[in-house]
Amino acid sequence: MAGNVPELYGSMVFNDKIMRDKLPKDIYKALKKTIEKGTHLELDVANAVALAMKEWAVENGATHFTHWFQPLTGYTAEKHDSFISPTDDGEVIMEFSGKELVKGEPDASSFPSGGIRATFEARGYTAWDPSSPAFIKEGTLYIPTAFCSYTGEALDKKTPLLRSMDALSREAVKMLSLLGKDVDRVTTTVGPEQEYFLIDKEDYKKRRDLIFTGRTLLGAQPPKGQEMDDHYFGTLRPRVAAYMHDLDTELWKYGIPAKTKHNEVAPAQHELAPIFDTTNVAVDHNQLTMEIMKKVAEKHGFVCLLHEKPFAGINGSGKHNNWSMSTNTGVNLLDPGKTPAENTQFLIFLVAVIKAVDEYADLMRLSVASAGNDHRLGANEAPPAIISIFLGDELTAVIDSIENDRFFVKADKVEMETGAAVIPHFTRDNTDRNRTSPFAFTGNKFEFRSLGSSASVATPNIILNTAVAHSLSEFYEALKDVAADKLDDAIHELIKKTIIKHKRVIFNGNGYTDEWVQEAERRGLYNLKSTPEVLPHLLDEKNIKLFEEQGIYTEVELRSRYEILIENYTKILNIEASTLKEMLYHDFMPAASKYMDSLTNSILLKREVSESITTAAEEKMLSKIAGKYSELSTMADRLETDIEAAKAMDDELAQAKFYHDTVFKDMTDIRELTDYMEAYIPEEDLPYPTYSKILFYV
Ligand code: ADP
Ligand code: MG
Repeated sequence: MAGNVPELYGSMVFNDKIMRDKLPKDIYKALKKTIEKGTHLELDVANAVALAMKEWAVENGATHFTHWFQPLTGYTAEKHDSFISPTDDGEVIMEFSGKELVKGEPDASSFPSGGIRATFEARGYTAWDPSSPAFIKEGTLYIPTAFCSYTGEALDKKTPLLRSMDALSREAVKMLSLLGKDVDRVTTTVGPEQEYFLIDKEDYKKRRDLIFTGRTLLGAQPPKGQEMDDHYFGTLRPRVAAYMHDLDTELWKYGIPAKTKHNEVAPAQHELAPIFDTTNVAVDHNQLTMEIMKKVAEKHGFVCLLHEKPFAGINGSGKHNNWSMSTNTGVNLLDPGKTPAENTQFLIFLVAVIKAVDEYADLMRLSVASAGNDHRLGANEAPPAIISIFLGDELTAVIDSIENDRFFVKADKVEMETGAAVIPHFTRDNTDRNRTSPFAFTGNKFEFRSLGSSASVATPNIILNTAVAHSLSEFYEALKDVAADKLDDAIHELIKKTIIKHKRVIFNGNGYTDEWVQEAERRGLYNLKSTPEVLPHLLDEKNIKLFEEQGIYTEVELRSRYEILIENYTKILNIEASTLKEMLYHDFMPAASKYMDSLTNSILLKREVSESITTAAEEKMLSKIAGKYSELSTMADRLETDIEAAKAMDDELAQAKFYHDTVFKDMTDIRELTDYMEAYIPEEDLPYPTYSKILFYV
């Protein structure tokens, strides 16, 4: 049982209360200043913090510490060092210095660097991120850090994320000062809703595809999928409820504000959403959440699948990135207030986002691109691959009125009439939801819905922060020299101009239709369907310029990301194709062959008994399976040849495209054959559990 939740919450975190208790007042103040304003931290402060941290950690049973970082693999990395330090008399004391807190030197040579290290040095550094709290997990003190090379290039996702948060803050503060607002810092906030599948561990262990690739490469559709809409928000099965309860308890210990949990659309699919937090903390927490989800699943005899598309034919899993900006004075800059049409500050920030998304839609698409997510985007379940913005009725009307110099008349709130007397009356929201939009305004924040479930949420937020910082900096340049008495008009004109220029990215309709695809093309919007198609855009001149101007990535860092992304895509496809080949030869084809043997035997035996006994049914089945088996054998050859051809290619982009266009196509064709055959092969002869079994376990 969770027991006393307020007491349990954050009990493993070196949080504000503990810092206040344990740190000398001046040190506490200096640290808070660093955390809240992003100022530099002095070594004497670090020393005092290290001491307090160690004391607290040891009191709570920790023996080790680790610099916890997020290399470009998309996972987290850790190397544990104990606190022990030998004394002259052969004993040990527990020690931890400010230097150890602030800086680590992991051997960086086995982390992907996209060629950065080859040209420089193998050494890498981790540097403490004081704005994300340290915590204790399984006897080790975890210190969130950034990871960079000897020459200072970022080798991780955290460094550019922090840079992008700084850039946005810098530009937003400047903009706010023009509006007469005295603000020290603007932070971006993120609440990521996390989808996942839970399947029985025994089923998982029987499938090579799940083990090696995280998704099923074969598998016929079960008689029932998600068409009855009976799983979404349905009653939690006791085993799942017990898992979720344990998961919440575990997350709360680490100060992760898990708030909402429910069944999702697909059978065996669920969702967890925390309360939003500052972006870098939310990113760290999401990484930790994914890890803890998997661990807790083990304890319950489950495996938690975070892949974007574990099962064909039913919904895959994504992550909704709820995003906003707020000032250190507690103002949410995307809150329209009661009268959005007159709220200049809101409108400026709103159009800054619209401009950012329109100008950098390619980067937004790229920030969510992965082999796994390619199965979702544009496949009629997740948002389409075309990036557009849903504003809703009210804001669209506001925007229209500004564009056309009309006075905005607010629609009255509609009182809901449910017809049942016992239900309290409430007013209706001014806009309905739109589930098909990749980037939707939802009241006082934007919800970026294209993210894949397994990826770090760092990259999409880097792009959002950077692109919006860029919009704001252009606005500032346009306004900074305007005389005070002309400023209001100039701002109004700027908002209007921005709307006219960028409104093409606004789309409130159904994003799943072919009409939208054609309409988007007419509007000149990007429709980048696959990872190999979108990745080269990272190095487009306008994008390199954006990152350099805002101080997020150098060109060297950017090229390294490109290399890693391409390589990663190719590796995943290669693993999938090789796994499929293995499954065909080791599992599926022998199973089909065995079934054909039994049919053949049955035919022969019957004939032995009497020629007058009909063998028509067996013959019909045998010929059906044998025909497909022969096609499958041809396709298996083709797959093998194409894998070899892919491996032999030098040009990385051409190779990625070949995997996408040819190898993946082979895999799809093979699947059509095996799934057809699977439906006819007796369950006991099948080498792995079927969709029916996996998705509808008890
Ligand atoms: P849904 O999209 O399912 O309706 P909610 O409205 O409950 O979900 O909110 C989804 C997420 O948005 C939650 O994680 C919530 O904390 C987060 N959220 C709310 N306000 C903000 C904000 N200002 N900035 C970032 N995220 C926010
Ligand atoms: Mg949502």
